[in-house]
Amino acid sequence: RFLQERLERRKVHEQLQVLRGNIRVCCRVRPSLSPGAGAPKEAQACGITYPLPGSLCVHASEQRQQEFEFDSVFSGEATQEEVFDEVWPLIRSCADGYNVCLLAYGQTGSGKTHTMMGPERNPGLSVRALKALFDITAAEAEHGARRAISVSMLEVYNEALRDLLQSDAAKPLDVSAMGAGQLATGQERVPGLTWRPVACVDDVLAVLAEGSKNRATAATSLNAHSSRSHALLSVRLTDAAGQSSVLHLVDLAGSERIAKSEVAGQQLKEAQAINKSLSALGDVIAALQSKSGHVPYRNSKLTQVLQDSLCGSSKVLLVCCVSPEVANAQETLSSLNFASRAAQVELGPIRKAAEPATRKASAAGGGASPSPLTPGA
Ligand code: ADP
Ligand code: MG
Repeated sequence: RFLQERLERRKVHEQLQVLRGNIRVCCRVRPSLSPGAGAPKEAQACGITYPLPGSLCVHASEQRQQEFEFDSVFSGEATQEEVFDEVWPLIRSCADGYNVCLLAYGQTGSGKTHTMMGPERNPGLSVRALKALFDITAAEAEHGARRAISVSMLEVYNEALRDLLQSDAAKPLDVSAMGAGQLATGQERVPGLTWRPVACVDDVLAVLAEGSKNRATAATSLNAHSSRSHALLSVRLTDAAGQSSVLHLVDLAGSERIAKSEVAGQQLKEAQAINKSLSALGDVIAALQSKSGHVPYRNSKLTQVLQDSLCGSSKVLLVCCVSPEVANAQETLSSLNFASRAAQVELGPIRKAAEPATRKASAAGGGASPSPLTPGA
C-alpha cells in the first residue's frame, strides 16, 4: 500500500511537471571518489539511496534521513551523455528562439565543473550543447536557414564582472539596468563584453582555452578562485533576420556555508558576495515559479546578467550537484533544500509510520526550514 501511495504521488508529480513547464530542477550525485584504504569511514560510506526514479534519500545519520524529489535524479553512475539527454530539449528550444539558462549549483567538489565543462575526453554539458547547436544549424542550413553562433565568457567575482576573453583584466564591465526582455535590438545586456564567432567544436575549445587561461593568470590559486566566483559561458544564436536567443551555461560559485567566525577580510567579503548572489538567484527562481509579478533581479550582478534568460518565456534548468559521502551530508542537505525550494515541490510529508523523526525532514520544499532560499541554511 505504501508503494501504491508513492506511485500515486509520483503521478501527481508528473502532472505538476507538465503544468510547471519552464523551470526544471534535477540533481546529480557525484560518484564516490574512491578514497584509499586508510580513509576515514565517513568518507567511504555512501550516504545516498534512490527509493524511486526522480527521488533520492540522504542518510545523514541513522536517526536523520531526508528524502527529495526532482524532475530527475542522476546517481554517481550516470554518464555525461545521460545528463545531456535531459538538457537536449532545452538546446532545441534555444535553437527555436527561446532564451535558456543552465546552472550548476552545489558545494565545492560536488561535480559542478565536471558537469558543465568536464574533461576533454569526456566533455560536459557546455561542449555537448554547442555541438548539438552546430548539428541543428547544419541540418537547418540544408533547408536554407542561416544562423550565426558566438560565445562569450564572463566571471562574476565579489559582485564585479570580468570579461574572460580580454587578457586586460583591469577593464571592469557593468550590466544594463533595463528590465528583463526590454533591451532594444542591438543593445547589450553587458556592454563591451567580447563575443567570439564560432563555427565548430574546435573553435569552441580554442575560446574555452583562452578564457581559462585568462581566468588562471589573475588568480593566485585557480581552484580556490574558481570555487568563489561564478563562471558564465554564454552562447548567442542569431538568425538571418537578426533575431537572437541566448543560452547561458553557468558554473556557480561553491554554495558551502562558510562560518563567519572562521574567516575575515577578503574571505569574508567573498563569502558574503557568494551568499548574496546565490540567495538572489533562489529568490528570482522562486518568484518565477510563483508567477509573482515582481522578480527581484536587482539584488545581485549574477541575476542581472542572467535576467533575459530568467524571465517568463525562458527555460531554466538547475542542476543541483551533491557529494555522496556521509561527511558531506550537511552541505548535501542544504544544497538539496535550496534546489527543492527552487523547484517548489509541495507534496507534503511522506508518511513513514514508525519514524516520527523523519516526517518533518521528509517535507522537502514544504517550507519546513526557517530560512527559505538561503544557501547554506
Ligand atoms: P566542483 O566544480 O563542484 O568544485 P568538480 O567538478 O571539480 O567539482 O569535481 C570534483 C572532483 O570530482 C573532480 O576531480 C572531478 O573530476 C570529479 N568528478 C565530479 N563529478 C564526477 C563524475 N560524475 N564522474 C567522475 N568524476 C567526477
Ligand atoms: Mg568547479
